[in-house]
Amino acid sequence: PLKQRLLVVANRLPVSAVRRGEDSWSLEISAGGLVSALLGVKEFEAKWIGWAGVNVPDEIGQNALSKALAEKRCIPVFLDEEIVHQYYNGYCNNILWPLFHYLGLPQEDRLATTRSFQSQFDAYKKANQMFADVVNEHYEEGDVVWCHDYHLMFLPKCLKEYNIKMKVGWFLHTPFPSSEIHRTLPSRSELLRSVLAADLVGFHTYDYARHFVSACTRILGLEGTPEGVEDQGKLTRVAAFPIGIDSERFIRALEVPKVQDHIKELKERFSGRKVMLGVDRLDMIKGIPQKILAFEKFLEENPSWHDKVVLLQIAVPTRTDVPEYQKLTSQVHEIVGRINGRFGTLTAVPIHHLDRSLDFHALCALYAVTDVALVTSLRDGMNLVSYEFVACQDSKKGVLILSEFAGAAQSLGAGAILVNPWNITEVASSIGYALNMPPEEREKRHHHNFMHVTTHTAQDWAETFVSELNDTIVEAQLRM
Ligand code: UDP
Repeated sequence: PLKQRLLVVANRLPVSAVRRGEDSWSLEISAGGLVSALLGVKEFEAKWIGWAGVNVPDEIGQNALSKALAEKRCIPVFLDEEIVHQYYNGYCNNILWPLFHYLGLPQEDRLATTRSFQSQFDAYKKANQMFADVVNEHYEEGDVVWCHDYHLMFLPKCLKEYNIKMKVGWFLHTPFPSSEIHRTLPSRSELLRSVLAADLVGFHTYDYARHFVSACTRILGLEGTPEGVEDQGKLTRVAAFPIGIDSERFIRALEVPKVQDHIKELKERFSGRKVMLGVDRLDMIKGIPQKILAFEKFLEENPSWHDKVVLLQIAVPTRTDVPEYQKLTSQVHEIVGRINGRFGTLTAVPIHHLDRSLDFHALCALYAVTDVALVTSLRDGMNLVSYEFVACQDSKKGVLILSEFAGAAQSLGAGAILVNPWNITEVASSIGYALNMPPEEREKRHHHNFMHVTTHTAQDWAETFVSELNDTIVEAQLRM
C-alpha cells in the first residue's frame, strides 16, 4: 500500500547547514529530543519543513540549500535575522519557554519584555505565516500536516485559512502550564484559538492536556469535554501522547566495537568508584545547580563515600549569547569548583563537569557504565535522557533518580526514585539510597522501566498520533 504522506513542521529542520561556498552547503543531522524521536518513524513518507538555523540572504545560496536539503527530505523556511531575533529569541525563547516551564523572567528583563511584547508577538505571527506559506506550497490532498511545539502555535489557524480540509495536528513538546500561568500572557486568547483550529492537539502527559482544556474553558469560556474542547459544535480533540525513543537504536549501539572499547576504557578509568551521571542542556529548567548542591550534601553527610563515587555532568551549551544562560554557566562552574576544592584529592575529584556535547556513541557508552543517573529538572516536557539511560542499562541495571516535575515521571515513576529537585535533603538521601540499593531491588525497578521504554517507542508515538488524527477527521465527518 502507498505510505501516507506526512509533512512534519517544526521550527528547526533536523539538520545543521554550513555554507562551504556561494552555492555549496554541507549538511549534518543534528541532535535533540524531537529529532531523535522522529528519526525512528518509518511508517510514513515523511518530509520535514522548517528553518535551517542559518541566515541566507541571497537567492543563489537559498536555491543551493533547498536543493541540498531536498535530498534529506527537508524543505527550508527562510527567516531573516530581524524575524529570528523577534520571533525566535524574543517571543519563543524569552516569553513562551520560561512561561511554559513556570519560570519567571529575570527582574531586570520584566519591564523591557512587557514593552517589546507586541512587536515580538507580531513577528511570531508573521513567522508562523511564513511556515504556513511553505506548507501550503508543498501540500497535496490527503497529506497529514503535523505541527510541532510552542514555536508554531499560530500555524494551525494559518493552515486552515488556506484550506479548511487540510488534516492538521499540533503537538507540544514542553509542559502546558496551569491556566493561571497561561492567563498572564497578553496574547493568551489568540494563541489558544489558533491552536484550537487544529483537528487534534497533543501533549506528553494527561496533566498538560488538562491544563490546556482548563485554559480554554476559563479564558475562552468554551466547553471542555472528555474528548477535547468544543466551540459551537466544532470539536478539537485534545489528548495525551507520551513520546518515546528509538530504544533499538541505543541497544544496538552498545554492540558496536567502538562503543565496547569506550565502555571498557571508562570502566578502567573509574574502577573502584560508582559512577553517577547527569546529561542536560545547560538550561535553567534542568535544575543543574540543585543537582550539584544535593550531591555536595550527600558527600558532606557520607565521608565514607568520598573516594568511592564520581558525578559526571555533561552540560550541553545552549543559547550561549543570552546573559541569563551565561550567568547560569558561571554559577554552575563556581559550585563545581568549590565542591572539587573541598572534597577533591591530588589524584581524584568528585565532579567531572563538561561544557560540551557528546556524540551518540560516546553518550551510549556513558549511559552503559553509569550506576546512578540523576535527572533533576525543575520542569521538563518529557526528558528523553531518562529513557535513553534505561535503554542502555540492561546489563548494569542501574538506578534512575528522576524529578517528579519531568513528564517522564508519569511513565517511569514506578521504576525510578522520584524526587522534588528543590528539596536537596531528599535528593541527597535518594543518592545514598540508590548507591546502596540491593541488586534484587535494582533489577526489579530496572525491569519495570526497561519494559516501558522498549514498548513505548518513538515509532509507536508517531503512529498513534497520526492514526488518531485520521480517526478524528473521520469522526468529525460522521457528525456533520
Ligand atoms: N544529547 C546528545 N548529545 C549530548 C547530550 C544530549 O545528542 O551530548 C541528546 C540526548 O541523547 C537526548 C537529547 O539530546 O536525545 C535531549 O533530550 P531531552 O528530552 O532529555 O531534553 P531537551 O534538551 O530536549 O530539553
